[in-house]
Amino acid sequence: MKKNKILRIAVCLFIAIIFTLIGIYEEVQSKKEISYAEFVSHVQSDEVENVEVVLNSEKAKIKLKDGKEQTVKIPSVEAVSDLVTEAIQNNKQIDFAIKQESFLQILERLANKVMDIITIIMIVLLFICLSIAAYKTRDDDGEIELDDDPLFNRKKFGKEATSNIHFDDVAGIDEEKQQLQEIVCFLKDPEKYTEMGAKIPKGILLTGDPGVGKTLLAKAIAGEADVPFFQVTGSSFDDTYVGVGSGRVRTLFKKARAKAPSIIFIDEIDTIGAKRYSSESHNSEQTLNQLLAEMDGFDSSSGVVVIAATNYPEILDPAITRPGRFDRKIYIPMPDLYARTKILDVHSKNKKLDESVNLEEVSKKTVGFSGAELRNLLNEAAILAVNREAKTIQQEDIDEAFARIVVGLEKKNRRVTEEEKYHSAIHESGHAIVSAVLRPNVENLGISIVPRGNAGGYNLFNDSEERSYLTKEDAISEMVVSYAGKAAEKVILNKVSSGPEADLKGASKIAYSMILKYAMHDSLLTLVGDEQFDSVLIQKNTSEAEKICKGAYEKSIKIITENKEIIIELANALMEKEILSAEEVQNFLQNKILINPDDKADSIKE
Ligand code: ADP
Ligand code: ZN
Repeated sequence: MKKNKILRIAVCLFIAIIFTLIGIYEEVQSKKEISYAEFVSHVQSDEVENVEVVLNSEKAKIKLKDGKEQTVKIPSVEAVSDLVTEAIQNNKQIDFAIKQESFLQILERLANKVMDIITIIMIVLLFICLSIAAYKTRDDDGEIELDDDPLFNRKKFGKEATSNIHFDDVAGIDEEKQQLQEIVCFLKDPEKYTEMGAKIPKGILLTGDPGVGKTLLAKAIAGEADVPFFQVTGSSFDDTYVGVGSGRVRTLFKKARAKAPSIIFIDEIDTIGAKRYSSESHNSEQTLNQLLAEMDGFDSSSGVVVIAATNYPEILDPAITRPGRFDRKIYIPMPDLYARTKILDVHSKNKKLDESVNLEEVSKKTVGFSGAELRNLLNEAAILAVNREAKTIQQEDIDEAFARIVVGLEKKNRRVTEEEKYHSAIHESGHAIVSAVLRPNVENLGISIVPRGNAGGYNLFNDSEERSYLTKEDAISEMVVSYAGKAAEKVILNKVSSGPEADLKGASKIAYSMILKYAMHDSLLTLVGDEQFDSVLIQKNTSEAEKICKGAYEKSIKIITENKEIIIELANALMEKEILSAEEVQNFLQNKILINPDDKADSIKE
């Protein structure tokens, strides 16, 4: 990019130089030249000794009586001839000659014409080059980029925006919206609060997984209150120059204060606000200090509210959440069944959804989807409907979009041997039957052995609605179900495939959660409050986790062995149809007697 720029400038300069040289040459040439009017007056005052005109040429050579030789631009040979004839009639002494053009002169004339054309082309080229160069130095936002000049960047940093998003656009987080309503009222009329002496929090920290709507909520506050919104991400404070980051913080707050009441939204605040011992650069510490100083330096009467968002609240420096800074923390959870329905509702408003589509059913299937993923789901479905040239989005579009998002694109052309297919059928049947044995209340929403992405097939369970409310039995059951695919392959086919990696990961994650998060394990070593496990804690508890995993796997083997016939039967049904719907699975299971070796999950040896 930089090299190109230099090249372009060099080409422009080159052309400009040539152009100037041509100009100078012509200028020098014209020095020896006199105007036609001067020529006429020379003739009339009888100073001309001799005039020589070449046919077709625009110039005449003259010699003056004092010996000087000059050229003159003439309107035409006839005009000169008339002028000279008249002078001779008036007794002036002038030699007049009209010569044929010599070959050389013809060439010269042609060359002059060509030079003229080249000059015009040069001018056009120069113009094009200059405008391209000017255009290319604009960066993507169309702003002129002055080569990393920190001062310049500082000015354009943190652009002001208005938000047209409202609370109605944020679905399913009603309690949080209610909490934030107070902030909206404050921003609408700060004086009312300050007169009363009421202090409003100046910093709000929104935490939660990616895509749950933190940014959306911050924008909605700005939209509801109808105040300017200054959005930046934590990483945009980074700069190789020392002091630039803190300069940007200062500029940002200055701008926001000038436009108060207003909102500053800092996304990914963890990139500047990580615990100090872990922040490797002195620069980012300066930025953080500046941010804290700005937060301390104004009170709520200035009408600026700072909203920050992070996916990793536990790595934040405690200084950030101290009173008077980001002291209001709001956790936005992953949407539950109800919230998902609401979010789907919001995002289907501008889409042509067929009346037969039941969003509640879609919501049931999309356990673990964030708001952003739900929006993508409906968008994908709309694209599929367009590709089908359909008038409305049908349930089948949503199902296909769901499958694409969950397990990657369906590989229609991938050839699967009968053997591979049977392998998948046994694997998935293992999951299905063990789940039916251990968790008869968890509905099976369908089984497929059509390969998609890396997965040979899948089971959809309508479960784990609220993972944080899992009982110990539920947690272990889920692990046993996760291992069931691998266990079925081992027991029935005596094979171990590369397939079940995701299953194993899922199971061990539950094991660590049991120990570290839910304190469900008897030996209860350490507790951490959050999903984000410390690697030290994980290492300390590896052997505990292994014990739990081993117990679960053994239990899985046991159930598979006891129910081998039924699993093979289900696998054969899958071989025939490849996909079994929820209803078909239900019908299959109805009259089967499933055996649970010890009927209680918690009797596993630990
Ligand atoms: P985050 O900032 O938490 O990562 P975003 O606010 O950027 O998430 O969400 C991305 C998009 O997902 C939003 O623009 C919106 O379209 C959709 N979305 C997320 N949560 C919700 C929600 N609760 N209601 C409606 N749409 C949502
Ligand atoms: Zn599996």
